[in-house]
Amino acid sequence: MPTGVFIHKKGRIPWNKKEKIKKICQKCGKIGGQLQVHHKNKSFSQLIQEVKINLPLLSLYESCMIYTPLWNIDNGTTLCLDCHKKTKDYLKGN
Ligand SMILES: [Zn+2]
Repeated sequence: MPTGVFIHKKGRIPWNKKEKIKKICQKCGKIGGQLQVHHKNKSFSQLIQEVKINLPLLSLYESCMIYTPLWNIDNGTTLCLDCHKKTKDYLKGN
């Protein structure tokens, strides 16, 4: 079992709290370590805006933790940090 933490731009989530997230880089097959969600359909900043709109009473961190579209892997794919940096959307904050 990978023992790394899932690192998103707004925080770190231990693997055991996000078991549904695939733990393998979908590009190079690397397991564990610094995997990130690369969102295909919506940018990360769009999703953060949705979090703020839908969950205005919680802190942004808490909101993100429970806002499932942010963690819906149908809306994204898991990539290791190296592969994520190579995507054209990475610098746009996606
Ligand atoms: Zn990779």
